[in-house]
Amino acid sequence: MRIVGLTGGIGSGKSTVSNLFKANGIPVVDADLVARDVLKKGTGGWKKVVAAFGQDILQPNGEVDRPKLGQIVFSDPDKRQLLNRLLAPYISSGIFWEVLKLWMKGCKVIVLDIPLLFEAKMDKWTKPIIVVWVDPETQLRRLMARDRTSVEEAKSRINAQMPLDVKRAKADIIIGNTGSLDDLNEHFHKVLVQVMKPLTWNEFALSR
Ligand code: ATP
Repeated sequence: MRIVGLTGGIGSGKSTVSNLFKANGIPVVDADLVARDVLKKGTGGWKKVVAAFGQDILQPNGEVDRPKLGQIVFSDPDKRQLLNRLLAPYISSGIFWEVLKLWMKGCKVIVLDIPLLFEAKMDKWTKPIIVVWVDPETQLRRLMARDRTSVEEAKSRINAQMPLDVKRAKADIIIGNTGSLDDLNEHFHKVLVQVMKPLTWNEFALSR
């Protein structure tokens, strides 16, 4: 089974590309959805996070108040690191199970859509790695439009991440998404052909 890594920066267009894969019949494991599940009330991840951050981060129904937790970790890199460290094992095993389920169904090619592919060191499990790249001005503009945030807020969210150019340098395939959706669609179909091509033994060996 081939696990294609799909990553990029905030607002660079990962979900848009991920939807194109789905629309073309390629199953996608969405790491953000897995990350949501591991914080559900009563789960191991939930217990760890409540123990570390206190009951204040809970809503009255006991679920984690995600925006509140987001604010806390966003403004404090140490707390962000702590949260990532606490949840990482749950997220990796959640992803593993999703991949296993698809493998058992006989899927030969799947896409792992994961914003923190490199940061979580999951890149060693994926080949090829696709990075969706966009120029900084377009990224800022799209992020502000989508999330209705100020320039300052959007900039600080972008700057809190591994620089997109660093991710681009680690890619096997770069999808440039500075142009229109039609341009993206056209580029995507070329990438799809590449992704569906069987790996040669050399490529396989080199990727490990
Ligand atoms: P995040 O990491 O925040 O989840 P993302 O990388 O998944 O972001 P998307 O949500 O796919 O990014 O795209 C960001 C915004 O840009 C969305 O509103 C999307 O509709 C828009 N967008 C993506 N690609 C294009 C494009 N080629 N032309 C115009 N708008 C686009």
